[in-house]
Amino acid sequence: MNVILSRPAPRLCEDVSQAVGDVPSVRLRRVASVCERVDCYVKLESCNPGGSIKEKNAAILVGQAEKEGLLRPGGTIIESSSGNFGVGLAMIGAARGYRVIIVVDAKTTPTFRRMLLAYGAQLAEVQEVDAAGSMQKARIALATSLAQSIDGGWYPCQHYNPRNPDAHALLTAREIEATFGGRLDALVVGVSTGGQLSGLARYLKPRYPHLKLIGVDVQGSVIFDPDPAPYKMTGIGLSFRPPNLDYTAIHAAYVVPENLAYSMCNALARQEGLLLGSSSGAIVAAGLHFARDLAAGSRIAMINPDHGDRYLETIYDQDWLSKNGFVLIPPEHMDVAIEQLKPAG
Ligand code: PMP
Repeated sequence: MNVILSRPAPRLCEDVSQAVGDVPSVRLRRVASVCERVDCYVKLESCNPGGSIKEKNAAILVGQAEKEGLLRPGGTIIESSSGNFGVGLAMIGAARGYRVIIVVDAKTTPTFRRMLLAYGAQLAEVQEVDAAGSMQKARIALATSLAQSIDGGWYPCQHYNPRNPDAHALLTAREIEATFGGRLDALVVGVSTGGQLSGLARYLKPRYPHLKLIGVDVQGSVIFDPDPAPYKMTGIGLSFRPPNLDYTAIHAAYVVPENLAYSMCNALARQEGLLLGSSSGAIVAAGLHFARDLAAGSRIAMINPDHGDRYLETIYDQDWLSKNGFVLIPPEHMDVAIEQLKPAG
């Protein structure tokens, strides 16, 4: 395997919003034995300029809001986000001169808070916890009231905005088409708002009917499993069923235990040189389980939503793992742990 030396010219961008997208996909080689039989790729959305796929949503939604006059010069962007969408809006907002207020809660990590502040965003904090230990509904309520009370305020509302999936129909799905063409058997996607999965389905399903879409969530969330329980994971998971998720497009769904997700993240860093965010561990574990039933030589792609640098103080920190009761699965037991995973009923 040699470094690819002849490549198309990198594009010139008028601002950072044009720099999102066109990320590479990398083949997994060592993390599980199924990678020898099936071509398993991770699409590295962590290569976006701010480190996550949600910058695509931010770039597209801000562009639409400007065109429609919902967001005017000097306006304020308000959103509820535990991390990446907030960072994406803070990044695009900084480049276009908007004030940005992100509603966060106790689960928002110090790293995400520092990233938001570094882009010049302001933080608004909620305290109310619901019966399932979630603060998502309180965050949405605060974002709604801020948007109503601030003159020139615009709330994209990623959870309920039917245009949330647009970015992935317009950008991510076309990148997948350009990279893999029709030669892709399964696509594995983490789910929270459902924006990624529904946008990808909208573009890819009619064109590639054989492509199986796999949805991935974390244990404790209610997207695919009605029993709520507390969980530490950010990025995937929700305390209500996402209105933007097209359940009919999903061939199989997985609800992955956090311990397996974090073990997979650490294994990907050490065995593949890929330092990815916590949801990626769940997505890859589910993808490798699904790959076991594919014919030899099949191709599966898993979407890595964000970079691992924002989790150095959590899932890549031994003290944090121990304090929270997580015990990493050693590499020699990873095949068995993947095998034991089951698709949700
Ligand atoms: N993983 C991470 C790290 C995320 O930030 C998100 C978005 N919250 C997702 C997965 C799920 O994406 P979506 O909201 O489009 O379903």
